[in-house]
Amino acid sequence: MSSHANPPLNRPRQNQLFADQDLPANLEAWEVAASTDLLIADVVFNRPLTTIYQYLVPEGLRELIGPGQRVQAPFGRGSQGLIGYCVALGSVLPAGRSLKSIESVLDREALVDSQMLELTKWIADRYLCGWGQVLETVIPKGVKSNAGTREITFFELSPSLRNSLGLTATTPELNPPGGGKPNLAPPSMPGPITSSDETPTSVASNRPLPSKELASPGPAPGQLAAALDALKLRAKQRVVIEVLCASNRPLAVDELAAAAQCGLSPIQTLREKGLITSLRERVLTPPTVGPIEAHRELILNLDQMRAVNSIVDVVRSGEHRTLLLHGVTGSGKTEVYIRAIEEIVSYGRQAIMLVPEISLTPQTIRRFRSRFASVSVLHSHLTDAERHGHWKQIASGSVQVVVGARSAVFAPTPHLGMIVIDEEHETSFKQDNTPRYHAREVARYRAELEKVPLVLGSATPTLESWQRAIEGLDTLVSLPKRVEDLPLPPVVIVDTRNDPAIGKGAAIGRALFQGMNQALNDGGQVILFLNVRGYSSVIWCRGCGKGVKCPDCDITLTWHKERAIALCHCCNFSTKPPGACPECQRPGLAYLGLGTERLESEVKARFPSFQCLRMDSDTMQKRGAHDVALEKFRHGEVQILLGTQMIAKGLDFPNVTLVGVIDADTLLHQPDLRSAERTFQLIAQVAGRTGRSARGGRVLVQTASPTQYAILCAAEHNYLGFASQELTHRKSLKVPPYTHMARIIVRGIHEAEVSDYAAKISELIRTAAKELQADLRILGPAPCIVTRLKANFRYHLQLTSPDLHSLRAVWLQAAPLFPHHPHVEFQVDVEPLNFR
Ligand code: ADP
Ligand code: ZN
Repeated sequence: MSSHANPPLNRPRQNQLFADQDLPANLEAWEVAASTDLLIADVVFNRPLTTIYQYLVPEGLRELIGPGQRVQAPFGRGSQGLIGYCVALGSVLPAGRSLKSIESVLDREALVDSQMLELTKWIADRYLCGWGQVLETVIPKGVKSNAGTREITFFELSPSLRNSLGLTATTPELNPPGGGKPNLAPPSMPGPITSSDETPTSVASNRPLPSKELASPGPAPGQLAAALDALKLRAKQRVVIEVLCASNRPLAVDELAAAAQCGLSPIQTLREKGLITSLRERVLTPPTVGPIEAHRELILNLDQMRAVNSIVDVVRSGEHRTLLLHGVTGSGKTEVYIRAIEEIVSYGRQAIMLVPEISLTPQTIRRFRSRFASVSVLHSHLTDAERHGHWKQIASGSVQVVVGARSAVFAPTPHLGMIVIDEEHETSFKQDNTPRYHAREVARYRAELEKVPLVLGSATPTLESWQRAIEGLDTLVSLPKRVEDLPLPPVVIVDTRNDPAIGKGAAIGRALFQGMNQALNDGGQVILFLNVRGYSSVIWCRGCGKGVKCPDCDITLTWHKERAIALCHCCNFSTKPPGACPECQRPGLAYLGLGTERLESEVKARFPSFQCLRMDSDTMQKRGAHDVALEKFRHGEVQILLGTQMIAKGLDFPNVTLVGVIDADTLLHQPDLRSAERTFQLIAQVAGRTGRSARGGRVLVQTASPTQYAILCAAEHNYLGFASQELTHRKSLKVPPYTHMARIIVRGIHEAEVSDYAAKISELIRTAAKELQADLRILGPAPCIVTRLKANFRYHLQLTSPDLHSLRAVWLQAAPLFPHHPHVEFQVDVEPLNFR
């Protein structure tokens, strides 16, 4: 086996080898190989390796292999067969090396196309992980395992009969070339006819069945009839043959029986006579696409029209451009996306619309279904088979709009026309395990490759996106007003430090209590927001002054009264609440801190004549619970909705006249460079849930930091003011968006080993930075904020540089020198959002 390092960018690209869908995937590769008689495959594995490995393609696999397919090849010391991805084919043998051979090809056709290969390669480079790791994540499990497919028998005329009937050109093959040959897994063998075979509704192969125009020119009808007469067939058998003569593709058994109006026996007999042949093919039942619903035709306001035009201009230019759609809550951003998508759909192209998982509510889905004939919704509850079905359907080009969470950015749309990311500030667009990509950055690169617009929408854009827009790198489009001239709701800041009720331990202070009473008595509805679930967030010993911690994490346990457990919100460890302090054995622990459960019991006690509903991940465990709860609220069965961030986003209920933020400080005092930004976003988003109709609405924000600028600016709906102050602050700290960052986490069971290892790699990084004269700031190593997590000690290092390339270069030079340690692991997180 031989290898070479991650190739530099100027290495000849081989994507064009299979860019043309109509040609066999590796035609040019065959041609190249014919002259040198060598075919070499570049293969990457699902390992944290930047290496691309090369293998010889043996004779028997030449026709089967292509970039984007999985292969099995000997790997590592034991030369074990390991599954990897073929990423390119070539014919140049590295000098002085003998190569091992590919053992088998697993897929009949490419799982990803050339652009997806390029995109995944980019992700590996950008996020410092293995290309194979990225491919492994990007291709859904159900696609790799062919989930949800069934083998079905198809029939066609046998070649000899076709000849004797004068049907010269052969019927196009249904099976991809090489089907059923040795080394191709899974084998596709002709099987018996069974009545359980169902008529396929779509064919799994992504090679389209030829259309009528491609049908071979047949003999004149009279000639054909004469030739059929000569066969002296029984009437039913003859009809079967006629049906197959008339068809331009192999027919599934049920299709054939239905068309010939016969049972299985004439078909069986014809097969035994050798007049027709069968082939087996895996087919997939396509997912059902919901019905189209009627919708109210809206007349866009001027700002919306301007926004739609800016997007459409980019679509027409045929160039990539990123647009930041900064629209206050309720300004009609979704309508803008929909109109722009309608435009690109009218060009026969597809759109990808990314939304936070939490927004994949029936409300959003209905909205899209009512406007487009074919919408695929990719949410996290899909089974492997469903995901596979969507993937194939999207790849076939029949889906107009893909709506989904983060990973939908990889949807295999054949003619992408636009990508939209709604609520682009949401942290769920960043994946928090390898590959730790941010869907916004991936979307930007994909949109660049495919020369289409990327639209980022938010009422509270990230400072990364905002800075690009104000510097003119991206195009800023604003919707400064709510639709129908509805005003943004007034926000009142309530200082909790001298509130008598809160002083006595209540969650709802005096002002909020009065506000709620008034809103409810006027027939309005109320949303209360609190970002902590459980009953008490701290179980505390008055004797030794310590909180009761998770045995595996540096986190105090949260008391969940309903479930009667003390729970770790990091690792889900749970225990019966201790009767005495585990440290000093003093009995009588105090239950402090406020969670949604306690808020709920307070609301029930203080507003007994109103219905209250709590939404957090404890009450919303069951699939669909979320929708049931929101419907209750929509229909007014419930007057008070309280919950965690689950209720902060997207909800559009005209009757909500008061929103209360119970504690605006929960995010503010986090040791995180984005704590002010998150606080601003949260208040602005929660405030967005009210004032959505002529009834108006207002917001009360309880805080102990009433002069903090994030809170003040949010109360004034002043994003620009906040952004400008926050950017100044970030610039002075030399942190993102002014610099690039990588966080390296080292973890292991024994603290001394972890800290030693962190010190060692920190030295290696410092040396590499010195050698490369990189403009790099290295912080740490230091214990992570949550030093113990899931029984591991954790240390981290933070690398910051104004220049992404030098940061990468240092990493690529240093990381291969990191020693192997049996008990310690490291991870790198590029542009981290989580600093815990
Ligand atoms: P955003 O996503 O900016 O918060 P939405 O797109 O959800 O806002 O729009 C809020 C509400 O306004 C929706 O109910 C939508 O149907 C309605 N709406 C959007 N555009 C218009 C318009 N031009 N005229 C009237 N109502 C509109
Ligand atoms: Zn824990």
